[in-house]
Amino acid sequence: MNEFCPKCGSTKGPFLNSFCYSCYLEDHELVIVPGSFEIERCVKCGRTRLSGKWFAENNAFIAEFLEKKVKLKEMDDADISVEFEESPKGEQVAKITARGEVAGKNVTVSKTVLIDFKRVACPSCGKISGGYFEAKIQIRWDSPRDLKKEKSICAEIGRQLAVMRETNPMALITDEGEAPNGRDIYIGSNKAARTALSIIKSKFGATVLSSAKLAGLDESGKERYRITYSMRL
Ligand SMILES: [Zn+2]
Ligand SMILES: [Zn+2]
Repeated sequence: MNEFCPKCGSTKGPFLNSFCYSCYLEDHELVIVPGSFEIERCVKCGRTRLSGKWFAENNAFIAEFLEKKVKLKEMDDADISVEFEESPKGEQVAKITARGEVAGKNVTVSKTVLIDFKRVACPSCGKISGGYFEAKIQIRWDSPRDLKKEKSICAEIGRQLAVMRETNPMALITDEGEAPNGRDIYIGSNKAARTALSIIKSKFGATVLSSAKLAGLDESGKERYRITYSMRL
């Protein structure tokens, strides 16, 4: 006797629990994914927030996160892959494909999830727009002011910070300006300022003295200091 699908009558195999594939998948939701997935994305730096942490926007992270949200039914051991594409409307969509076995047969099911980017300002960018800084570098000349050298020093500070910014979003100049016989540079992260200065000191033969000033309390009630680095040339 020929096998046929009890729902649509198709005699074309393969069959899954005696139904044809399309009827079976129509009646059984094997892969459950959220209809949309909201991710906060900073309008300033473009980083996205996943599990409470801010990351440089990275599809691999988002894919890994989405994989954990997939629920499987009847398939115990599916291979899940995530691909990103743009919908005709220009929205970003993740296509989730699960490959596994149901009743001893190989089954592949694909679902799409809309990635819903929410425009926010991340805490670091929020601080920067508020003129935040942890460290101030004062470049001061004891010898006659050499503007060319001063420019090289500023450029070098900028270069050092750019490297650190990959892992520390506050490694940046939040403000700068002319000062009597020199220049002031405000930096978001004191750790980054200190690292940059250790390189500058040896490269440009400068001496640097630091002093700390209490600048209030942070969110957790701890004393917050601002460090001034006085660089003499
Ligand atoms: Zn059928
Ligand atoms: Zn940001």
